[in-house]
Amino acid sequence: MSIAPAITGPALSLQNVSRYYEDVKAVENVTLDIAAGAMIALVGLSGSGKSTLLKMINRLVEPTSGRILINGELVDAVDPHVLRRRIGYVFQNIGLFPHMSIARNIAIGLELAGEKTGHAERVSELLDLVELPQDMADRLPHQLSGGQQQRVGVARALATRPGLMLMDEPFGALDPVTRDSLAGEYKSLHERLGLTTIIVTHDMAEALYLADRIIVLEAGQIKADASPKQLLSGQVGPEAEALVAIPRAQAAHLSELGKS
Ligand code: ADP
Ligand code: MG
Repeated sequence: MSIAPAITGPALSLQNVSRYYEDVKAVENVTLDIAAGAMIALVGLSGSGKSTLLKMINRLVEPTSGRILINGELVDAVDPHVLRRRIGYVFQNIGLFPHMSIARNIAIGLELAGEKTGHAERVSELLDLVELPQDMADRLPHQLSGGQQQRVGVARALATRPGLMLMDEPFGALDPVTRDSLAGEYKSLHERLGLTTIIVTHDMAEALYLADRIIVLEAGQIKADASPKQLLSGQVGPEAEALVAIPRAQAAHLSELGKS
């Protein structure tokens, strides 16, 4: 008998959240409730406000207006360092420090959090968790493949045992095969650790595969909020339909090829 893992990730609530840059409405009046343990994909074209929305949750960007709560607690009320220990963040373009060893890159969050001991053990656990060999600890980032570097990015984000993971196009720069297997592995990590995850992607196929709920942003506003099944059924509106049309057409094309 398998026992479902306990959910450790928090619930999240965004209430009328906006962020303007001069006259650019990067995010406009977003209201969103996310259940503990959910895997949410945030999808939209470039410039639709995905990164800005994500960065308001861990306070890398301050909202122009609105409120963000994690398990009912306003993020503004939490010290940013404490907040960032509770929230893992995987950046767009990986962003490892080039002159630091893999071990130090993974442990940087622990260092910043003022944890002085136990780094080596934690790094070793994290390398296992993301399925990297232990001897990579002493290497430099440029000595790893893109996929391995992104595993390090995930390990680094998990170092402080956060409940919430924010991932900004984590697999975007990788080849499709590596990307698919990393996405699948992350999904099982998410389930095993009971996390709440928001993953930004511009790839609807990836979103459909990974998430249990997909939020479509356009010009800073939510245009669709639906399950993969609802999105594929084509009932969700033109913005979502335009994004779903591509993977659907590809699937149909491949299926035709398979028949001939
Ligand atoms: P996405 O991640 O979906 O590509 P972003 O959140 O990065 O979108 O950007 C949304 C909009 O806000 C874009 O028009 C972008 O140019 C603008 N924007 C983002 N960050 C800044 C900034 N620091 N200063 C000015 N404009 C910004
Ligand atoms: Mg972005």
